[in-house]
Amino acid sequence: MIPHDTLYDRAAGAAERVIRERKITSLHVDPIAIAEALGIEVVAKPASDGGVSGMLIRLGDQFCIAYATHIKSPGFRRFTIAHELGHYFLEGHIDAIFEEDAVHESRAGFISSSRYELEADHFAARLLMPNALFSAALRRAGEGLAAVESLAKTCVTSLPATAIRYVECTHEPVAIVVSTGMSVDFCMMSKALRECDGIDWIRKNQALPMASETRAFNSDPNKIRRADRVEGESDFQEWFGGNLRLTVTEDVIGLGSYGKTLTVLHGIELPEDAEDIDEDEDKIIESWTPRHRR
Ligand SMILES: [Zn+2]
Repeated sequence: MIPHDTLYDRAAGAAERVIRERKITSLHVDPIAIAEALGIEVVAKPASDGGVSGMLIRLGDQFCIAYATHIKSPGFRRFTIAHELGHYFLEGHIDAIFEEDAVHESRAGFISSSRYELEADHFAARLLMPNALFSAALRRAGEGLAAVESLAKTCVTSLPATAIRYVECTHEPVAIVVSTGMSVDFCMMSKALRECDGIDWIRKNQALPMASETRAFNSDPNKIRRADRVEGESDFQEWFGGNLRLTVTEDVIGLGSYGKTLTVLHGIELPEDAEDIDEDEDKIIESWTPRHRR
């Protein structure tokens, strides 16, 4: 089995290559235009079952992308089309997914454990939110849920997919948590937070902290359905254990028909020594950057 990090790097690398080769220089990357330039038609089509987000169809050497008509969110629709493009661009996918059938049905959105589905999801996230452009937009986007929402609007991407890229690219100590009911579906922590000594990583299926805003929010399913939001504060130790006495800002939003909740934990002021590492790194990079101006 190929390790997850390798799959991730390959998918991200392939998507960045597509962006570079097509000289795409602004966010709002258009996956339909990329498909059509390759002669791949993109159509809406009812799916055979509710879990299917899209299809890649092969007719000899010709390909066609279909996205499920039940997908109303423009962000998820774009993600689905980008996911199908992932199967087209990623090495080995075409042979694997068309081994038995001329139609590949996808379950996009980081819900499938299939290696090919996961790899195509990572490709899609990176294609719609490539590193250089996304990081530049991130610097102007503020922080917390407000930053995720602003970036999702710019990139026309879903909140969960955008939140993942936010955590991957930010230099601040932040975490995102997607939860259902009283437990964690998944959590991602930024590099600056992962490097903090003596904290526990939030795990899948872990119970939400008793005193968290998220737990109180999830006790009312109507709040999730209505996409309500709440901003509060909670205790760093409640989420991450360890012995740092800190307060974190906890932004919570219901994800509507997705039935889950997104939490962004930010505003974490780690002690000096934890932050020094990054600053030193910046200084070293700066001292090695050649100066052209005198
Ligand atoms: Zn797929």
